[in-house]
Amino acid sequence: MKLCPTCGENKDETEFNKNSRRKDGLQVECKTCQRTRNSAAQKKLRKTRDSINDPQVYETASTLLEQFTKDMGVIDVVGVAHDLREFYPEASDLVISDAVMKAFEKLVTEMKEETP
Ligand SMILES: [Zn+2]
Repeated sequence: MKLCPTCGENKDETEFNKNSRRKDGLQVECKTCQRTRNSAAQKKLRKTRDSINDPQVYETASTLLEQFTKDMGVIDVVGVAHDLREFYPEASDLVISDAVMKAFEKLVTEMKEETP
């Protein structure tokens, strides 16, 4: 029998996955706890990946960029990235930079169209 520190249960050795790097040759956590942890990690990863396609992030980036530009007369990409990071802490750097780039391109296109 082996104690799983996560669920606090004493379980049979067959309830633990193998890990040759450990002294007893078994994982610290039982299979059930490991599965729970893995699916939680996957869910989080999926959530982060989903937010790549989240139009709300782009929308916020766009709004911020327009606001910043109006307020300061300069395009503050770094400021927008920083604010986005605070609004969407779960979003990856890729999502943030992607959203900022899209917003930036949109703004530049709009500026070009306005110029006669
Ligand atoms: Zn367990």
